[in-house]
Amino acid sequence: MAVKKVLRLGNPTLRKISQPVDESEITTKDFKKLIGDLFDTMRFEKGVGLAAPQIGVLKRVVVVSKEEENERYPDTPKIIDQVLINPVITPLSPPDGGFWEGCLSVPGMRGFVERPAKIKIEYYDEKWKFHSKVIDDFNAVVYQHECDHLDGVLYVDRLKSSKLFGYTDEVDTKGKELD
Ligand code: ZN
Repeated sequence: MAVKKVLRLGNPTLRKISQPVDESEITTKDFKKLIGDLFDTMRFEKGVGLAAPQIGVLKRVVVVSKEEENERYPDTPKIIDQVLINPVITPLSPPDGGFWEGCLSVPGMRGFVERPAKIKIEYYDEKWKFHSKVIDDFNAVVYQHECDHLDGVLYVDRLKSSKLFGYTDEVDTKGKELD
């Protein structure tokens, strides 16, 4: 397993639609390496989630994980390590939640995005067990942000206003809180 280069905004691969994973792939060496590389890269970069296209693999796979303490997102809850394969999100509320999002593909920047604060997410894990969960608040933001990557969408496409976007050390991300 290895730390991979994270593709940055402007790289055309980030704008492509990723392909669904077939159950027969999950036992292959390549697929196991992909999961390992995603976790290694996410941890190295101190991210809370990473989608396969961000390391150049156009497959519908996302990993999420967050320790209690994360310097990029202080005061947010822990997220247990999860692999999400072929995730599908159904919003359960209007876009009533908002958060200053960041992205490893847009380093050094933050932007305010409003999204549904409550969602249902359905996915397969790395053992092909099916999960259906209702998620809210910060975790719902993370899942929606990561799943957007699978459709070539970045948070900068969803900014509430171009004025609510800037360098992390310049914008006042304390000004707005997660609803
Ligand atoms: Zn991202």
